[in-house]
Amino acid sequence: MQYISTRATSATQPEQFSHILLGGLAPDGGLYLPAEYPQVSGAELDAWRALSYADLAYEVLKKFATDIPDADLKALTSKTYTPEVYCNARAAESAAAITPLRVLEREGGKTLLLQALSNGPTLAFKDMAMQLLGNLFEYALAQDGAELNIFGATSGDTGSAAEYAMRGKQGIRVFMLSPHKKMSAFQTAQMFSLQDPNIINIAVDGVFDDCQDMVKAVSNDLPFKARQKIGTVNSINWARVVAQVVYYFRGYLAATTDNSQKVSFTVPSGNFGNICAGHIARMMGLPIDKLVAATNENDVLDEFFRTGVYRVRKSAETYHTSSPSMDISKASNFERFVYDLVGRDPQRVRALFEKVESEGGFDLSGHFGSDGDEWALVKHYGFESGKSTHQDRLATIRDVQDDYGITIDTHTADGVKVAREHMQAGVPMIVLETALAAKFNETILEALGLDAERPAGFEDIESLPQKFVVMSTDVEQMKTFIAAHTGL
Ligand SMILES: *Cc1c(COP(=O)(O)O)cnc(C)c1O
Repeated sequence: MQYISTRATSATQPEQFSHILLGGLAPDGGLYLPAEYPQVSGAELDAWRALSYADLAYEVLKKFATDIPDADLKALTSKTYTPEVYCNARAAESAAAITPLRVLEREGGKTLLLQALSNGPTLAFKDMAMQLLGNLFEYALAQDGAELNIFGATSGDTGSAAEYAMRGKQGIRVFMLSPHKKMSAFQTAQMFSLQDPNIINIAVDGVFDDCQDMVKAVSNDLPFKARQKIGTVNSINWARVVAQVVYYFRGYLAATTDNSQKVSFTVPSGNFGNICAGHIARMMGLPIDKLVAATNENDVLDEFFRTGVYRVRKSAETYHTSSPSMDISKASNFERFVYDLVGRDPQRVRALFEKVESEGGFDLSGHFGSDGDEWALVKHYGFESGKSTHQDRLATIRDVQDDYGITIDTHTADGVKVAREHMQAGVPMIVLETALAAKFNETILEALGLDAERPAGFEDIESLPQKFVVMSTDVEQMKTFIAAHTGL
């Protein structure tokens, strides 16, 4: 399996999985994708129905990570997807399923299901991919006796998922910037209570954008970046996307009894990483009917799927919402889908994303490319969308609590709200649950007048000792700090 860039030129080399594992963007500025999507036969799907999550992950990933020996990959997936890691399921007996499926509603031929992806250590779906990444990184670095210093910024979910995935890993250090006193008490406690020597929390005197600017400024110093062996784990990382493909297979197989049946998925979306994995699963032959992108007030993706216009927002136009992990100004993985949409034409992708830089977006409505009507292809690929607001979120959390007796988090509520608008008789609709309610308790309290239940072990997390340093937005000081810790 070779990987190509969405903006490939004649100078761009195809790469193997292990080579793109530790990197981000391709050298030409594009994103990596397989040269062609591996296919899954009906016989394979049948055989996969009986597999454990870990074995299913092995079968799916084997098609993509062809340069990792089978036995090693099998060891990595077995170590990653165990009930001990995904033990925060509401019902202990469903932990073995890793991503248990729960029926919310079955009425008049319409079925609404919830697939729980948030039973990992940080109670959000990012653990699903990040836990694998931690084990893959450690494995790949050990092969070369190399080390890696992950340097990133977080407003919550990504940073904690990365830290829990990398803690205690050989050859890896994490420097994670977060805005000082701007995260919720729960999220702060999750990250700062980690005492592992290889996890370094840096609270920056500023807002999240300041943290991101610091990461950019340090990463733009290429000699420094190379000397300090700095890498990232942001959402465009290919291994993160491909690890997420697995649970679409799992959800499909759990919701159906034979391969003539279809299901649809509604995905709470921000950077388009999660739903991009659904697109890839479908391109591999998984019988998915619709993929529905659910956004919050930051409706860049909903606007595109309704109108064909992709328009990125300025930071001043980006809302701080009660589903904060979907507060985006642009969708960094969207380019992967656009590449397929325009018939895998890298020149056209480059032109479109240059237009995003120069004019803030592009318009595919009514556009006839060389492969026919690109906008019509969006429907062909089965994408739909919807949007949810703070009031919708509150109403949906209340509703789901009243009707089914479970508390869903704010992001999942956006998903359920939009899913209900897209249900069809005869096609089960699976909403991906992307976080547990305990993480966003402020809004649960507002909606229900009660605190969200916390999984065992999280009761007193705020009272644990915290390890972090506070720093200013001085880039030179940051570099000195990093160098002092790496000793490089
Ligand atoms: C990251 C995140 C999302 C958005 O996922 P994307 O891959 O960026 O679309 C949704 N919900 C939660 C809880 C998240 O942490």
